[in-house]
Amino acid sequence: MKQLSKKGYLSETARNIKPSGIRKFFDLANEMDDVISLGVGEPDFVTSWNVCEAAYAAMESGYTAYSANAGLLELRQAISKYLDSQFHVNYQADKEIIVTTGASQAIDIAFRALIDPGDEVLIAEPGFVAYAPIVQLAGGVPVPIETTAENEFKLTADQLEKRINEKTKIVLLCFPNNPTGATLEQEELKQLARVICRHDLLVLSDEIYAELSYDRPHYSIARLPEMRERTIIISGFSKAFAMTGWRLGYLAGPEQFLQAMLKIHQYTMMCAPTIAQHGALEALVNGREDVERMVASYRQRRNYFVKASNQIGLPCHRPGGAFYAFPSIRKTGLSSEQFAEQLLKEEKVAVVPGAVFGEGGEGHIRCSYAASMENLQIAIERIGRFVQKRIL
Ligand code: PMP
Repeated sequence: MKQLSKKGYLSETARNIKPSGIRKFFDLANEMDDVISLGVGEPDFVTSWNVCEAAYAAMESGYTAYSANAGLLELRQAISKYLDSQFHVNYQADKEIIVTTGASQAIDIAFRALIDPGDEVLIAEPGFVAYAPIVQLAGGVPVPIETTAENEFKLTADQLEKRINEKTKIVLLCFPNNPTGATLEQEELKQLARVICRHDLLVLSDEIYAELSYDRPHYSIARLPEMRERTIIISGFSKAFAMTGWRLGYLAGPEQFLQAMLKIHQYTMMCAPTIAQHGALEALVNGREDVERMVASYRQRRNYFVKASNQIGLPCHRPGGAFYAFPSIRKTGLSSEQFAEQLLKEEKVAVVPGAVFGEGGEGHIRCSYAASMENLQIAIERIGRFVQKRIL
């Protein structure tokens, strides 16, 4: 057989993209017994039974073929109704909504449809690990804006204004935020919107944690005057409906943008999984009680974990949403990577080093409290013991 020559086959883009910093800890944790994982960013609930049944029924009825490119019309209609009733934003099912393979794919096609080479995308950090690589894959330049614990990791209009230049095209907002749990209120969004309109920018608003808002209802930036026309909402079923493995998300936004995204979706994905779409339809039509039950449970665990974290010497602001606590570990003198590695080896608790979430993440760890109360209590005990030995 002929050997491959020594020339570089991989594209420059592929060579330059860094693997996710979270993976390494999962691999380490998986090799050990008795590990309590606060590392994964997903619900600890299984998908509701009626949703699973709807997917079984779809298979039994032979709905096993492709759906329309943009997704089952019935599902898009249900998403349209849901966005209106829960968040008071209006999108037409036939032109302004695309069902995607997870919010991940929604982010990918949105950026690919909007970015020309060299366009800059402003990203509040610490932020979801996929944003910057996806921007780069689309040929854009991610520009981080550091948010800080002192300001509860909220992005301010001042911080935004300072990073805008003639190459800036898009602002990516993710509130409630992964990994900080930060939320933005209507007044705070208004301040951002003023800057965004003045500089004629677009917004990609990742609202996948919208339902998981514990202190006040989520407010979408698309509700503000003049913002609907320049905002694309990204959301999905993974978090609120405990459906991470179903791989279903969606985009909602003005027709001119969504139709361009649909072209990319058509060729690269064809459509989101049809069977999963039937499950998602059931989740929207009959899932309200389950969502509320899960949200109440996360809220209770948030209250416990944040209080306990402060008590054991890891100062933590009170996150308004998502299911992450992002305490400071500065007092220990360790880097976030050292902290996570040593904690895993000594006390068998897996957390994610804050540094993997970009600017402003160092000096913190991300703990997902989507774990059983019992495990959270054991984890707190173990982390407390670990921290006691190191407090400076
Ligand atoms: N956005 C954020 C902020 C996330 O945290 C995640 C998942 N961790 C996603 C998007 C992707 O979600 P999905 O499972 O729908 O692809």
